[in-house]
Amino acid sequence: MILGGSAEARELAGRLAPRFEVTTSLAGRVNNPAVPAGALRIGGFGGEVGLRKWLVDNSIDAVLDATHPFAATITENAVAACDRLGIPHLVLRRPPWPAGDATVVSSAAEAKDAVTAQGFSRVFLTSGRSSIGAFLFSDAWFLIRVVEPMSADELPERHHLLLSRGPYTVAAETELMRQYEIEVLVTKNSGGSMTSAKLEAAAALNIPVVMIDRPALPENVSTVATVDEAQQWVIERDTAGV
Ligand code: NAP
Repeated sequence: MILGGSAEARELAGRLAPRFEVTTSLAGRVNNPAVPAGALRIGGFGGEVGLRKWLVDNSIDAVLDATHPFAATITENAVAACDRLGIPHLVLRRPPWPAGDATVVSSAAEAKDAVTAQGFSRVFLTSGRSSIGAFLFSDAWFLIRVVEPMSADELPERHHLLLSRGPYTVAAETELMRQYEIEVLVTKNSGGSMTSAKLEAAAALNIPVVMIDRPALPENVSTVATVDEAQQWVIERDTAGV
């Protein structure tokens, strides 16, 4: 079973599906998600207990957690469930972006404080819908980019909402930041190439970056950084009959 919601999860499903019975699990946050190869299930499991039951009911031999680096709850639940059931488990996490000159913070609330402290008034907020609540009561103006629509009461008063999903180009990101006269970029440290163009664009325009650091992974978890390594892990275990 692949815990999905990332481009890497889709790629891994595509590589494994011809040879293994693969089910990808999605949380169901976005309408019309890109459909991976193999079977697909959508929706939460009901915490660690529900996940354990699902793994047993579906005779799962191995769990590959290829969720987004900020999806900390499902990652913790999967570690706990697999530990208790003795199911082989691997986390696929793309490497973080180098922080460079960015102001590194550990939460959306700290990001808001950093933006306020530095007196920025035009903010490009790309840190995802769950982080926007931290910016609700602010005098600044926000360009907010998210995947799914949000209601007015979830958004700061002064904003423009952009609905889109990557990948983005440096040229388009540069033009966007120029057009909206952006003074600071707020981002999670998601890593990967799909959304990294904004960092290059910000650097070229001398726009400072506030970067929300990743949540820590649970201790003693086997982790790889690439789809190749995750695929290899499955093949080796299968060959060894683990
Ligand atoms: P989260 O905080 O770790 O998870 C919250 C709850 O959502 C989990 O407890 C679980 O519900 C359910 N869930 C999460 N991922 C699931 C999956 N792959 N399959 C089934 N249930 C799942 O996660 P999140 O940050 O809300 O992210 C949700 C999904 O969006 C993840 O799959 C992630 O890969 C993707 N995503 C997240 C971000 C981000 O910035 N956080 C960005 C891009 C994509 P139950 O407890 O009921 O099982």
